[in-house]
Amino acid sequence: MNWISNFVRPKINSLFSRREVPENLWSKCPECGTMLFHRELKDNLNVCTSCDHHMAITPRERFTALFDNGTFAEIKVPAPITDPLHFRDQKKYPDRMKAAQRETGEPEAMLVARGEIGRTPIVAAAQDFSFMGGSMGMFVGNAIIAAAEAAVKAKVPLILFSAAGGARMQEGILSLMQMPRTTVAVEMLKEAGLPYIVVLTHPTTGGVTASYAMLGDIHIAEPNALICFAGPRVIEQTIREKLPEGFQRAEYLLDHGMLDRVTHRKALRDELITIVRMLTGRGPAVKGDLPPPDPAGEEVKADTGKKTAAAPSPDAEKQPAGAAKG
Ligand SMILES: [Zn+2]
Repeated sequence: MNWISNFVRPKINSLFSRREVPENLWSKCPECGTMLFHRELKDNLNVCTSCDHHMAITPRERFTALFDNGTFAEIKVPAPITDPLHFRDQKKYPDRMKAAQRETGEPEAMLVARGEIGRTPIVAAAQDFSFMGGSMGMFVGNAIIAAAEAAVKAKVPLILFSAAGGARMQEGILSLMQMPRTTVAVEMLKEAGLPYIVVLTHPTTGGVTASYAMLGDIHIAEPNALICFAGPRVIEQTIREKLPEGFQRAEYLLDHGMLDRVTHRKALRDELITIVRMLTGRGPAVKGDLPPPDPAGEEVKADTGKKTAAAPSPDAEKQPAGAAKG
């Protein structure tokens, strides 16, 4: 018994909790080279505190920062068949999957959840670039369909955060078939008259750009995100010409009419709340603490238990109690 509790259990615990303790407490900004303390970086949503470079953020961290009080309910995605082509390059496809699952702690490259932002119910889906380059395979297709179906069922907007290197080549034609499948899923939202908002993060490329990432009612990008179908290197080699500065980056695409907004990650939540509330015919969001529950007010009814919790944004201004019903 002693041996089990003193040796075996800590050993097992160390195997499973390895992800919680970062090996290195400091990370280097790839843009400006500043050494950033991991906690400070996390509090700043993985944005460099000295040059504002937006580093990757996992879907789970993003959702925790996005949803009210960091609470959301995951939506189950139907699992597709594994390795339909018995694909093998240097490694077998199932081995690559297992390695990615171990590294990220997630089952696949997309997380779908429902919850509230600024007291407004939404469904959100986020792609995980750290999981095999966020590649769009059958699971991602299923995830988008599950997200669209959940949004239609609950009559709420869908917000999608894209990040992908393109289609998952290990699934061959089956991954390309996700382009029309997800297009039909987006069409379901349009038929139901529900807003579909896409937040394009670095990088969004290939078949993802060619399908659901470019079909939103509103396209917002994070600063300096690469958004393209074929990458700049491929184009440069094909046309044998030097491409202009900032080509296919968020700001360039905004100037050329391909995006509606480029928004800093720290301002994104407030902006999404404003857009979602406008598009669903609600009044401006209440910032700060909620007023006492009002049995007649529809907005307040669902959230009676949460009124003591502090608002997630520290800069929130308190507003008069009457503003709740807008
Ligand atoms: Zn930096």
